[in-house]
Amino acid sequence: MTSNKPCNCSNKTRTACGNCSRLRMVFLMSYTLGNIQNPVYYSFQAEDRKFNDERQVATQMLGRLVKLHRGHFFKIAVYDNQTAGKPKLFEFTKEDV
Ligand SMILES: [Zn+2]
Repeated sequence: MTSNKPCNCSNKTRTACGNCSRLRMVFLMSYTLGNIQNPVYYSFQAEDRKFNDERQVATQMLGRLVKLHRGHFFKIAVYDNQTAGKPKLFEFTKEDV
C-alpha cells in the first residue's frame, strides 16, 4: 500500500487507503532484526468515521496489529495522514501495548 497514488475512495469506503485514511502507523522494528523495512499501516476509513478521537482509531489499529509484530518492535509512531507534512501525533512503546 503506497500513498499518493490515485484512488477511488468515497465516503462509503471502509478499507485503509494511503491517501484517504486518517492515520498512518509505523512499527519501528528492533535493531536486532537487522536492516529491515518498518511495516506501515493506514487506518480503516470505517473507523476514521466511527471515532472522533485519533487515539481511539489508533487503539483499534493496535488491537489488530500488535500481535503480528509482538516482540519485534520497540516503538509505534502514529502520524496524521491528512495534514501536510504528516505530523506525528503520538507514540506507543512496547510497554504501552
Ligand atoms: Zn483513498
